[in-house]
Amino acid sequence: MDLFEYQARDVFEAKGVPVLGGAVATTPEEARTAAEKLGGKVVVKAQVKIGGRGKAGGVKLAENPDDAFEKAKAILGMDIKGHLVRKVMIAQAAPIESEYYLAILLDRAARSFLVMASEAGGMDIEEVAHKTPEKLARVHVNANQGLDKSKAIEIVKKGAFPEDVVNDVADVLVTLWKTFQESDATLVEVNPLVKTKDGRIIALDGKVTLDDNAAFRHPDHESLIDHAATNPLEALAKEKDLNYVKLEGEVGVIGNGAGLVMSTLDVVAYAGEKYGVKPANFLDIGGGASAQVMADGLSIILGDPAVRSVFVNVFGGITACDAVANGIVQALEMLGDKATKPLVVRLDGNNVLEGRRILNEANHPLVTQLDTMDGAAARAAELAANR
Ligand code: GDP
Ligand code: MN
Repeated sequence: MDLFEYQARDVFEAKGVPVLGGAVATTPEEARTAAEKLGGKVVVKAQVKIGGRGKAGGVKLAENPDDAFEKAKAILGMDIKGHLVRKVMIAQAAPIESEYYLAILLDRAARSFLVMASEAGGMDIEEVAHKTPEKLARVHVNANQGLDKSKAIEIVKKGAFPEDVVNDVADVLVTLWKTFQESDATLVEVNPLVKTKDGRIIALDGKVTLDDNAAFRHPDHESLIDHAATNPLEALAKEKDLNYVKLEGEVGVIGNGAGLVMSTLDVVAYAGEKYGVKPANFLDIGGGASAQVMADGLSIILGDPAVRSVFVNVFGGITACDAVANGIVQALEMLGDKATKPLVVRLDGNNVLEGRRILNEANHPLVTQLDTMDGAAARAAELAANR
């Protein structure tokens, strides 16, 4: 899960990373009130989970609370690279002397953690990394050894930071490491980390990605979820403990087991090329496909208006094909009039003949059975194209 900047600021503050005061606002009035509380000049910043807000006009300096009202009015509702601005952060303004860059991330390819540091931070860090990579220190950190002050100093020096800030920046880096580790993050980035005109080192913009696999260790992370951005069908699926992912196409895909569902997506995408259709979603009903689970899965898939046909691809294992077939029949009964789109079913594996017999006997007008995955994918794509 990616955090908004204001959430990252809160995490930083709680962990002792130096930040300035900030508050989130959803209306220009709230922005004015926040600016009054903070006092002095403030920066009004679009809260969207995408970089480059500064260049897109989503970061504006405000002289006073009335100005903050006007700037918030201009920024709220903006579209930044496809992200609608629903909130702004009102932050104390900093008199900037220099902008630096620090980041810690999980480097999957290297199976390690990577620390990046550069004295050339700010809005053009991508260009720095690209054109003058020698200005960006990249140092792997062993998870067991961690990052202590002396290692931090070594990295900061490698990033060519001026001598007078090395010690303070290294302290921030050690605190960032602690933040990264204790929050179970996969990314903690500060750009810019600034030196103010009065010599303080402050994290002015933070990006934090939390590892969802560690969510069970952090009940407090639940409150950080952005429900406004969650697809309602994805939320419903989560409630029912189903793995559902919305995609862009027209063919709904239900399968049991992530591996089978993934390959089903490939087969549907391939078969759909001919008709210009693609998988509409991805739903893994997992191992125990009871009638209720099948009904939940089908109703979620059928609830997606983009879906024109559904491919149910099940390999019977512990839950055998006859149980799955009964599940489909009962699910269609439960759904009644709500089931309106053609279903192509391919069953294979444990008790396949009995499963197919049950579906044949039920003879539901929406269901077509095919024996092979390729054949079923082709039929589902064809049905989606012809509706
Ligand atoms: P991003 O473009 O999405 O990364 O947004 P940032 O929060 O990094 O802001 C972009 C730029 O705005 C920074 O690099 C700074 O130059 C500037 N900026 C942000 N906050 C302040 C501030 O408090 N004071 C001043 N003077 N400039 C700021
Ligand atoms: Mn930034």
